[in-house]
Amino acid sequence: MAWSMAYPDTYYARTIAPAPERTKLDGGLRTEICVVGAGLAGLTTALELARAGRTVVLVEADRIAWGASGRNGGFVSSGYACSMASVAARAGPDHARALFDLSVDGVEYVRGTIAALGLADAQISEAGCLGVIRYDDRDAMLRQRDAALADYGETLEYWPQDRIARSLSSTCYHHGLFDARAFQFHPLNYALGLAAEFERLGGLVFEKTAVRSVESGTRPLKVIADGGTVTADHVVIACGGYTGPQFKTLSRAILPVATYVMLTEPLGDRLHEAIRTEAAIFDDRWAADYYRVVDGDRVLWGGHITTATREPRRLADRLYRDMVAVYPQLEGARVEAAWSGLMSYALHRMPQIGRSPDGLWYAQAFGGHGMNTTAVAGQLIAGAIAAGDDRWRLFEPFGLDRTWGGLGRTGVQATYWTYRVRDWWQERGAGQ
Ligand SMILES: Cc1cc2nc3c(=O)[nH]c(=O)nc-3n(C[C@H](O)[C@H](O)[C@H](O)COP(=O)(O)OP(=O)(O)OC[C@H]3O[C@@H](n4cnc5c(N)ncnc54)[C@H](O)[C@@H]3O)c2cc1C
Repeated sequence: MAWSMAYPDTYYARTIAPAPERTKLDGGLRTEICVVGAGLAGLTTALELARAGRTVVLVEADRIAWGASGRNGGFVSSGYACSMASVAARAGPDHARALFDLSVDGVEYVRGTIAALGLADAQISEAGCLGVIRYDDRDAMLRQRDAALADYGETLEYWPQDRIARSLSSTCYHHGLFDARAFQFHPLNYALGLAAEFERLGGLVFEKTAVRSVESGTRPLKVIADGGTVTADHVVIACGGYTGPQFKTLSRAILPVATYVMLTEPLGDRLHEAIRTEAAIFDDRWAADYYRVVDGDRVLWGGHITTATREPRRLADRLYRDMVAVYPQLEGARVEAAWSGLMSYALHRMPQIGRSPDGLWYAQAFGGHGMNTTAVAGQLIAGAIAAGDDRWRLFEPFGLDRTWGGLGRTGVQATYWTYRVRDWWQERGAGQ
């Protein structure tokens, strides 16, 4: 496998579709809308605005989908990083239902866009997603299934232990809920497909062009970037976990949180001693293991979260140990690549979609659930700018609450350790 050196060495970069480098910004430009950040939030916003006939410039500090959008697990499912129970507690049950429905639209947007644009490189797999629990509580699973249907119209199929054992040879798992509507894909190639369509419609993309500041005191707004300026009537900031301090109100409202993924060598028939399903798998832990089979016989395995943004040493070993703890049959499998990425989290764990007091639109804080929710954000912000659609206000209960920097980071890390102890306790009980 060869990979594009411009991207970190991930499975996706090793299987990337043609990705011609876009030029850097050089000089001054006037446009209607400038979108900052070419992750899936920025790309979807830019594409939807171009589809509405607007002139749009998309400015990216590195390469298209260089951040979380081009290196994630590739699971596309409904819902948010925040549990729907917590959403309902803050916003009320009807509001929560409207937000859940939007999250389903996000899934269908991605599926529909891949089909409409004929994005074969996006490698969509309709094998669904299976959530498994590592403790023995059948009733809890059934209650969760019933509540999902009653409260949100979501159909999940209960998988008892014997059914799970036919698919996954691990003593760690007990029961599961299968989501047939969820799917898997190649997020980097999907992002490149969106960028190509955006350009076909007349949009301009600049790579290797970091935005240093936005002068928002006057109209039009002025985006100051490496190499030049973009003057625009509207500016959308979509920089995810990579948002810098130049966007003070926005960066203060999120915590960058790292998570990790690895790719094994091709495992041939050995794989089927462990995993005999094409469904993507995630477990119930607070920082879940999430994994799926790619290329027929490789495992793409993800896990861990941390507020330390530096990549840990011996990352591949750490993920390998996690995998072998679940599937001892895979002992000795070689890890070919391991990487990290930054997600952005608000303390309320919901996306932050809206307009700041200084007139900038923002779309951030998608957490570990960005593949559907960035599609929601892109459509809502584009609809607001192009057609006055005010559905983005559904996210108003989830504002730019401050995370208090180091204090917030310590809080999240402490919560992570607390939940790890809870998970351990729950699983220990299950084993007795
Ligand atoms: C390892 C990993 C696994 C994950 N797995 C899943 C999964 O399976 N399913 C799921 O739904 N979600 C998953 N997520 C979460 C999901 O990837 C993110 O929520 C989503 O990609 C966020 O998109 P974004 O556009 O907000 O940010 P990003 O994709 O991070 O994009 C932000 C972009 O802004 C650019 N930028 C930053 N600052 C500037 C600047 N000053 N000027 C110009 N450009 C700038 C960055 O270079 C970057 O390209 C995962 C995340 C990670 C890291």
